[in-house]
Amino acid sequence: MIYADHAATTKLDKAAFESMKPFLLEDYGNASQPYSFARSAKKALKTAREIIAKCINADPNEIYFTSGGTESDNWAIKATALVCGDQRATITSQIEHHAILNACASVERLGFPVTYLPVDSDGIVQPSSLESIITPATKLVSVMFANNEIGSVQPIKELCDIAHKNGALFHTDAVQAVGHLPIDVKALGVDMLSASAHKFNGPKGIGFLYIKNGLSIASFMDGGAQEHGRRAGTENIASIVGMATALENNCKGIDYNKNLLHSLEMCFLNTLENEGLDFIRNGSSFRTPGNLSISFRNVSGEMLLHRLDLMGICVSTGSACDSQETQISHVLQAIKVPPEYIQGTIRVSFGIENTMDDAKKIAEGLAKILQQ
Ligand code: PLP
Repeated sequence: MIYADHAATTKLDKAAFESMKPFLLEDYGNASQPYSFARSAKKALKTAREIIAKCINADPNEIYFTSGGTESDNWAIKATALVCGDQRATITSQIEHHAILNACASVERLGFPVTYLPVDSDGIVQPSSLESIITPATKLVSVMFANNEIGSVQPIKELCDIAHKNGALFHTDAVQAVGHLPIDVKALGVDMLSASAHKFNGPKGIGFLYIKNGLSIASFMDGGAQEHGRRAGTENIASIVGMATALENNCKGIDYNKNLLHSLEMCFLNTLENEGLDFIRNGSSFRTPGNLSISFRNVSGEMLLHRLDLMGICVSTGSACDSQETQISHVLQAIKVPPEYIQGTIRVSFGIENTMDDAKKIAEGLAKILQQ
């Protein structure tokens, strides 16, 4: 099997798995309990928070553990809208993940206005387009760090500065970026940032929301005092520890991994070109490493996906969360992929376990299908 769908999920890092084991087997104490048996869980929780904070240049008490990217995004959107009881607006982009789009639809139903910014043909939110619609009545701007389908990386600092100049908060869904691109929340100035462990070789069902110190947003889960009383529920220590190990390892390897993934991209594209295939590559020139959204003329992306599957190759047509639906991706529509190419789009997303041979075989597999 060749797995090339790392934007959907990644393989668990071996060291992360090893770091989780003691908390699943022997050290199963509840970190909130005062007796000595719970001490190692409590200590592991503290250390994991410190490691994760360091990876994005945050303070440890700004890291709030959640069940993943979807929960972090819902928290940021809904809790910001609901906190003050005012009706100020949210601005987001047309190409966000459904975790943001559907959370926005939810607050819209409660009467909070939401505006969806367009993107250019590279999938970039132009700062001038935010500037033209933001007003003092804007409460939150939420723009993703990197897109899950086409990889385009947004000008986060510029967008964040515009939000702040106008008295709004800024959130970024950085699920596709954390562990893959250097992130410094202090230098960027963002107020909130969402991340998910399974996108950077950590376990599934765990993530975090960075919330800048002093920010007043509503708590997400009411209950006990965990996560400073803002996200109640007994902590998933094993997964939190695994997430910290995976993130630390990925951050250490960011430059090396970027170069490796770039070589894989080049090998894949050169092979496609040598085969004489008619295709376009979507997204901006600054993308998440290893992400290739490729559109072929007058073919069905779904057919390509299933034919590759028969060859033992895993890729995606749009975002994994969309794979049950046959409708054309909102991202490809927003960047206006030409009609004769849009149906024939697949996403190949390489990861650090892939080899040059994998890249070549996927491109050759595509050529074989398309030439038949
Ligand atoms: N945001 C983006 C950009 C994503 O790519 C994903 C997952 O595909 C999510 C949010 C949801 O994250 P999770 O799977 O951890 O809920």
